[in-house]
Formats: sequence, structure tokens, C-alpha cells
Amino acid sequence: MKKQIVTFVIDKNLDIKNHLIGLDSYKRKLHSKTISKNEYYETLLKLPFKKRKEIIRKNIERFYSPEKNKFTRTLAKDINKEWGKIEARYFYKLEKIHGHPFPYHAVKATLSSANRFGYDVEGKWFAVSMMQNKFISIDIAMHELMHFMFHKYYWKMCERKGLSWKQIWDIKESFTVLLNTGFANLRFQSDNGYPEHKQIRLAITKSWNKYHNFEKALSSAIQCTH
Ligand SMILES: [Zn+2]
Repeated sequence: MKKQIVTFVIDKNLDIKNHLIGLDSYKRKLHSKTISKNEYYETLLKLPFKKRKEIIRKNIERFYSPEKNKFTRTLAKDINKEWGKIEARYFYKLEKIHGHPFPYHAVKATLSSANRFGYDVEGKWFAVSMMQNKFISIDIAMHELMHFMFHKYYWKMCERKGLSWKQIWDIKESFTVLLNTGFANLRFQSDNGYPEHKQIRLAITKSWNKYHNFEKALSSAIQCTH
């Protein structure tokens, strides 16, 4: 049997990193969901990096007690099993849409105690939910893995076209709208995206339905950001 590419794990250090990614996107005000003031984040941001990490570690300690570990490991095992049933079909579609192979052989998905889910392409990991059911985590995984493709094959292309980091971030985030067309039978929920990306997502969908060509859809998305 072919080895699974994505493995769902319990990893406290990756969870802490995911909390830090959440804090960073709050600081950068990356999307409207983070615009409302979060007192916990505001307090953390006033502290030096090392101290922030310490506080997060302490705050999430309760999710990693030996007793809780029994539950969370069972959940990770369950997600691995369900994911294993669809992984090959998922990557087949993902590669077809992008016209490129998925570039990694092993990626970790950490079950995070945060309510937001980051990723680290270089570190080859992303976060899913420790608090929600296994099907939601599978939906999240499809979303995050799509970002890996964008970073590998299209981020630099956008830079060469003169787009700013934030413009590229918005486009990358908008492309997950394609999960609603080609992947609907593998998912439990639709990928809703962020309200501020409505126009870009619409442009991507329109272009995709017409040409079924990622680069053409990218051009339409780029036009939308100008
Ligand atoms: Zn995303």
C-alpha cells in the first residue's frame, strides 16, 4: 500500500507554533475576522517573543495531560483513518487543477487547541482542530494543503508580476474557492473564505468554469486586486 502523505499528530510544539502564527496574523490584521480587539492577543503582543511562547505553553498545558492525550490520540488516529480513504483522490484532483505534482512526500497535520489554523510550508506542517470533529479537520486539511501548492508554484510568479505580499496573500487565500467545484464530493462543508475576498473568489470561479486553467484564473484574480 502507498504511504500516506499527510499524518495527523498530537504535537505540543507545533501547536504552540500554530498559536504564534495566529497571533502574527492578528498583529498584521490579515483578515476581517481578526479586526475585533482580542485582549489576550493584545497582552501577548506587549511581551517579548520568548515570554509569549511561555504563556501559550502554559495556557495549553491542560490539553496535553496524560488523560487528555488518550482522547486526542484517538481523534488523531480516527482522522488518519478517514483521511486515508480519500487522500489519493484528493491529491489527484489537487494536482490536476494546478497542473503540477504535490511537492512533498510527508506533511504533518497537528491537532491544535487554537481556533485558527495556520501552516508552515518549509516546516511541512499545518494545523487542524483538536476541538472539532474529524470531518471538519479533513475539510481544513484540504484548504491548507492547497496553500502549499500556491506557495510552491505561484507565489514567486505573482512577485515577478509586481504584486505586494498582501495582494498575493489575498489571492492565495481566495483560490480555495476551487474546493467548492472540484472537491465537493470529498468535503462536508463548503469553503467559505473571508468576506473581503468575495470579488476575487468570484473572478476565480468564473474563469475556472470557462477555461479550467489555473494560470488564466490567476490572471483574473490579479486583475481584481488592482
Ligand atoms: Zn487559508
